Amino acid sequence: MEIARPSSLDEVLQARAETPGADLLAGGTDLMVEVNFGHARPESVIALRRVDDLKGEDGRRIGAGVSWARLESSPHRALAQLARTVGSPQIRAAGTIGGNIGTSSPAGDGLPWLAALDAEIEVASRDRGTRRLRWDDFFTGVKRNALAPDEVILAAVLPVAACVVRYDDGRVHVALGSVAPTPIRATRAEELLASEPTPNEGTLAEFARLVAEEVRPITDHRSTEAYRRHASGVLARRLLERCLARC
Ligand SMILES: Cc1cc2nc3c(=O)[nH]c(=O)nc-3n(C[C@H](O)[C@H](O)[C@H](O)COP(=O)(O)OP(=O)(O)OC[C@H]3O[C@@H](n4cnc5c(N)ncnc54)[C@H](O)[C@@H]3O)c2cc1C
Repeated sequence: MEIARPSSLDEVLQARAETPGADLLAGGTDLMVEVNFGHARPESVIALRRVDDLKGEDGRRIGAGVSWARLESSPHRALAQLARTVGSPQIRAAGTIGGNIGTSSPAGDGLPWLAALDAEIEVASRDRGTRRLRWDDFFTGVKRNALAPDEVILAAVLPVAACVVRYDDGRVHVALGSVAPTPIRATRAEELLASEPTPNEGTLAEFARLVAEEVRPITDHRSTEAYRRHASGVLARRLLERCLARC
């Protein structure tokens, strides 16, 4: 296995352009599991650990190379909260938000947060420069995304936002992970709340029903589709009630 160890973004983009089949390695907490189980045998790897250009964090822009350990103290309260739930201290020290986005697993804990905020994923290549894709254009399926073979994820970019739950468009955003091939928004449940901004008991029950209807879970060895639908509605309603009590 050939390993390139660039120390600047320009060097990463150059290496990516010259070896588009190479795997990018950030914390390695997803990629090395695949290697250890024999599911991936990369011939060449581009290691990102030395690339400080990917580790910046300035409010709306969170560099791909920022670790979960750093995000535990993010000013974005929901991000800090979810970062604390990722793996163990060792995983949070190594794993990055860019790796979570790169893997594009529907179970990636960072992804519903990006969906709730209508975040964009900023990517770049040597030959075509930088572009930004909305989260729902970026995530295209189970562990699939719109990143081209010569591109690198630079950052997650957030829109100008007021608070975690309610935004400048006055809507509650309902995002869910692990219950569809990609992170999803429950848009019919969102529309219900937009039409009834002070929900009563009936609205809350309908909200939970709509969420349960909108998710697209599977039955597998961990659980059934029916249970996952039910749990999605119950958990979304509980979270909404908690948010409404705080706003
Ligand atoms: C024991 C254990 C527990 C875990 N617990 C959780 C959990 O609770 N929640 C959760 O969401 N995840 C969990 N994970 C998965 C993993 O830790 C996260 O997805 C983490 O964010 C991956 O980041 P990384 O930097 O280690 O990615 P890596 O393994 O380095 O890379 C992952 C993928 O992203 C690509 N990639 C990395 N950086 C870039 C970039 N800048 N541009 C383009 N592509 C890039 C890589 O090529 C690779 O395909 C766990 C993993 C383990 C082993």
